[in-house]
Amino acid sequence: MHSPTASAEVESQRQAPARRALRGAIRSLSAAGSASDPELARRQLHAYRRYLQALERDWREVQRPPPGVDIVEPEQPAEGLYRLPVLERRRVDADLFVLTLPRPRAFRFQPGQHVKLGLNGRRHSYSIASAADADTLEFFIERRPGGGLSERLSRVRVGEAVIMAARASGRLRLDPGYRQHLMLATVTGVSPFLSMLRSRPQGAQSRLWLLHGASYRDQFGFDAELAQRAASDPAFDYLPAVSRPEEVRNAGWAGLRGRLDALLPRLLRERGLSPADTAIYACGHPDMVDTVSRQLADSGFSLQTERY
Ligand SMILES: Cc1cc2nc3c(=O)[nH]c(=O)nc-3n(C[C@H](O)[C@H](O)[C@H](O)COP(=O)(O)OP(=O)(O)OC[C@H]3O[C@@H](n4cnc5c(N)ncnc54)[C@H](O)[C@@H]3O)c2cc1C
Repeated sequence: MHSPTASAEVESQRQAPARRALRGAIRSLSAAGSASDPELARRQLHAYRRYLQALERDWREVQRPPPGVDIVEPEQPAEGLYRLPVLERRRVDADLFVLTLPRPRAFRFQPGQHVKLGLNGRRHSYSIASAADADTLEFFIERRPGGGLSERLSRVRVGEAVIMAARASGRLRLDPGYRQHLMLATVTGVSPFLSMLRSRPQGAQSRLWLLHGASYRDQFGFDAELAQRAASDPAFDYLPAVSRPEEVRNAGWAGLRGRLDALLPRLLRERGLSPADTAIYACGHPDMVDTVSRQLADSGFSLQTERY
């Protein structure tokens, strides 16, 4: 059983920092109006303000089952499929969202695996972002233009049923043969790595770096949690990077700038990572995964990949 009342409190706490961040973004963007092309900056600022306002409205629409309603989890899947009620739909940006489903007790998965979700007869694979022993299953999903399933999932209401396959699959795993691991992810490609990090035992000795790329600073989805994990785990570094630092939507960004393939050689050099002690993983946009695969082809590094 889940406790919707407690979840509702957590949700409203989570929204307060988001609203503060949005107000801060609007303030810092006002300063961008004095850029070298004031007319362009003014138009960008206007468009971005409208975007932020819409986003904030959608944040408020995040729903939870009403307090006191218990969610009954199916123990056994029918015909290899579960029908699960959506517990939460959290908006990240106009096209990105996080869906939360209850984890049936009989459903097992390894961190890094994915499972098929479905609605209206369409099914696709989605990586599980949750820890292997969590009560809920989180999925970080991008709505694709004209996408039959992702478009529909982006509009799913809390309480509506989603189909989930009874078995997870996929071979992306932390390789126990290495003591250092460098994870590369674009936007939603962070999910398998988030699952690995959330499942990481306390005091684990392995050294981890997560280089997370996105076009815009508001697309990382779980950056607050990942930064918090990095702050409390000396063996983990979270390195978010925006690929369009000059755009007004990234105003005030002080982190890494550039595409992951451009940042990778410097990271390997500066951290002294070698094929003997470090395994590399790349997950997300096919262009990033293909470019990194070509870059590392003759390097001797062990590379596991997953393309979305
Ligand atoms: C192992 C695995 C794990 C995945 N995990 C995630 C995840 O965690 N989050 C997530 O958002 N997605 C993930 N995906 C992608 C997901 O399975 C769907 O392919 C995606 O949501 C599009 O489905 P759709 O029905 O909306 O689009 P469709 O109706 O199938 O296609 C809509 C449009 O998008 C284009 N399109 C579809 N897939 C791709 C693609 N991979 N690259 C470029 N264009 C494409 C199509 O050509 C079409 O024009 C994963 C895929 C795999 C194979």
